Amino acid sequence: MFIKDLFSQKKTVISFEIFPPKKDTSIDSIYKTIDALAPLNPDYISVTYGAGGSTSKNSTVEIASIIKNKYNIEALAHLTCIASTKEDINIILQQLKENNIQNILALRGDFPQDPDFKFPNPLHFTHAIDLVQHIKKDNYFSVAGTCYPEGHIEAKSMKDDIVYLKRKVDAGTDFLITQLFFDNNLFYSFKEKTDIIGIDVPIEVGVMPVINSNQIRRIASLCGAHIPEKFVKILDRYIDNKEALKDAGIAYATEQIIDLISSGVSGIHIYTMNNPEVAEKIVHNISSIVTALNNSNGEK
Ligand code: FAD
Repeated sequence: MFIKDLFSQKKTVISFEIFPPKKDTSIDSIYKTIDALAPLNPDYISVTYGAGGSTSKNSTVEIASIIKNKYNIEALAHLTCIASTKEDINIILQQLKENNIQNILALRGDFPQDPDFKFPNPLHFTHAIDLVQHIKKDNYFSVAGTCYPEGHIEAKSMKDDIVYLKRKVDAGTDFLITQLFFDNNLFYSFKEKTDIIGIDVPIEVGVMPVINSNQIRRIASLCGAHIPEKFVKILDRYIDNKEALKDAGIAYATEQIIDLISSGVSGIHIYTMNNPEVAEKIVHNISSIVTALNNSNGEK
């Protein structure tokens, strides 16, 4: 099924993101993660693809297939384009089809650290929009895309970024998933801008529960997300206490999610970091809210 259809069936879609095991770890280790996530009844699970600009072949298709065909949970396979040739992309699309996977998150991808990396490259798609257009030539697939409530780190301005986003949606992107953020007001102001420009596909909000200090460093260097004062206080206070930081991070993410759901967002995409325990706690914290909302007949 197409994930996009879930947004008209449910008031709030709840989904998870996982990543393939590291190269030196057996793919079997992913079963433990999915075994723990499956009973939480996510609407779908997404699987990252070579995140961080890695060009190595990876097991995204295989894991998406496990989710879809062994666990009967809808799968969203991430696919990046700048580091793969158009020919490689076609091979992956064929593999996705053979595995009955109809939903793809079409991404440009991060720049590889390889100093010989050539961009743009005529053998590769340049932007996510080019990949969306290519995938959408085949109506077997439904396509999701990303968006950045604080602006993409390379964008000259928020205005430019939203204009490109509108083009990406007009090219056939069926729904969007946001980059993580820690201040919901940034999302509400972004949503006003996307409404004004006429972006009318569902926008699912990506939420990252921060549970350790490594994540904070990575977030700051990769996407430059603004860390609000309220969150800085938590980090300062509990940075040296693993358990306290974990509990505080889960509580912060829960509060963020309840506010977003109450404000009528289309869905919540939890970046699980392959840590089912954290996803479990958050889903438990919000379960009655999501159930009440999805069972009610009232307006959004
Ligand atoms: P695009 O939508 O192509 O945008 C990238 C930049 O180009 C933006 O600044 C945009 O304003 C600009 N732009 C867009 N179109 C044009 C145009 N036509 N002309 C000029 N400029 C343009 N990375 C991975 O490697 N693997 C993953 O699995 C992965 N999953 C992700 C999941 C989510 C939900 C998010 C938010 C990010 C993910 N990323 C992943 C990171 C992503 O690859 C990077 O953020 C990357 O830098 C941009 O990819 P994009 O698809 O958003 O790019």
